[in-house]
Amino acid sequence: MELYSTLSGTVEPLETLHPDRVYLFVCGPTVYDYSHLGHARTYVAFDVLTKYLRWTGKEVFYLQNITDVDDKIINRAREENISQSELARKFETEYFCDMQALGIDAVSYYARATTHIPEIISQVERLVARGVAYVTETGVYFNVDSFERNGELSGQDKTKRVSRVTDTTKQDPLDFALWKTGEYGEYTWDSPWGRGRPGWHIEDTAISEKYFGQQYDIHGGGLDLIFPHHEAEIAQMESLEGKHPMVRYWMHTGFLTVKGEKMSKSLGNFTTIRDALKRWNKDILRYFILLSHYRSPLQATDEGFANAAKGLEHIRAIARNDNGPDVEGRKAFTDAMEADLNTPMALAAIQRLAGNGDIGALREYGAILGINFLRETSAPLSVLHEIRAELRARKQFEVADLIREKMVAAGITITDQSL
Ligand SMILES: [Zn+2]
Repeated sequence: MELYSTLSGTVEPLETLHPDRVYLFVCGPTVYDYSHLGHARTYVAFDVLTKYLRWTGKEVFYLQNITDVDDKIINRAREENISQSELARKFETEYFCDMQALGIDAVSYYARATTHIPEIISQVERLVARGVAYVTETGVYFNVDSFERNGELSGQDKTKRVSRVTDTTKQDPLDFALWKTGEYGEYTWDSPWGRGRPGWHIEDTAISEKYFGQQYDIHGGGLDLIFPHHEAEIAQMESLEGKHPMVRYWMHTGFLTVKGEKMSKSLGNFTTIRDALKRWNKDILRYFILLSHYRSPLQATDEGFANAAKGLEHIRAIARNDNGPDVEGRKAFTDAMEADLNTPMALAAIQRLAGNGDIGALREYGAILGINFLRETSAPLSVLHEIRAELRARKQFEVADLIREKMVAAGITITDQSL
């Protein structure tokens, strides 16, 4: 398989550190609010990548962090007058619900920041001991100038970069916090530098070091995370023992846009995953997302979703008779997936496979893409249909309707006309 890496700026053959094993880390959510379609796009892409790699026989350890200590969490908890942990647990659960509803189930392990504080403190201690981080009265900061390869991932030179946080105790405005001293309520911990809490970037490297070591294969996330977040991660991890590269394949998903602007919480132009799922089911949402390559910008429009729904329905309509394997169609699908996860081309192959009646491939590849390309005809469903018909014949309409409601809620199309 070939993947594009932001680090090299080219498509490279996927060569993992351990044969047939892939270590993948993707930045997880900050759990202070509901996730939106922009998040869905990123997590669907890495769900499909993982499922595809597993299908080819590779073992994938897919790790995702949960940012449950953050300014946004502190502020929102204060606004709602609940504890930080209550708020974080609530939105963590909501996040898992949304992922489940979207058929995203490839993550091997979710790691909360708050349950990795010893690992975080240990990493900061080692960076201080190395002389690349320094302590002030407000916290511990990473000295950006100490890291030669700084800016390699984003390709930006230092003079053009701006730090969002200004702190007069820092030696350089671009130095970033590894530890913030102070009392932050519930989520405040003792450390060698006084009570406080971790910075954002250190959470990822402390967690990935624990499970993967200082070098691993793929790091993913949205395009907006390249700077400063991913640059900071590289500086932290590679400064520990000089191991380079921390990660060879940096995969970044393009923006989901609304009227030309990136969908984001701060712009207020977002649609939550659960609101979207009220209008379009999981299969349509995933089909819509995968119709674009993960690195391209993707415009969210009603028309786009409606077209995706139509396209998927067309595939289901033409996939009728089982004509056995379409070897060329199958090759077209895997070739597309191998080429930097080219899902629009893979979906074109799916259309061909549907037209040629390769039902087996549709079922198998549907599991990789997380989309059901076949009309519901499975045995348990036909049993349910029969039971409904029988109940109706016996005029037990209430129970029949209840079954119908449950079936519709589960996304099953009921075709009988006598509803
Ligand atoms: Zn991250």
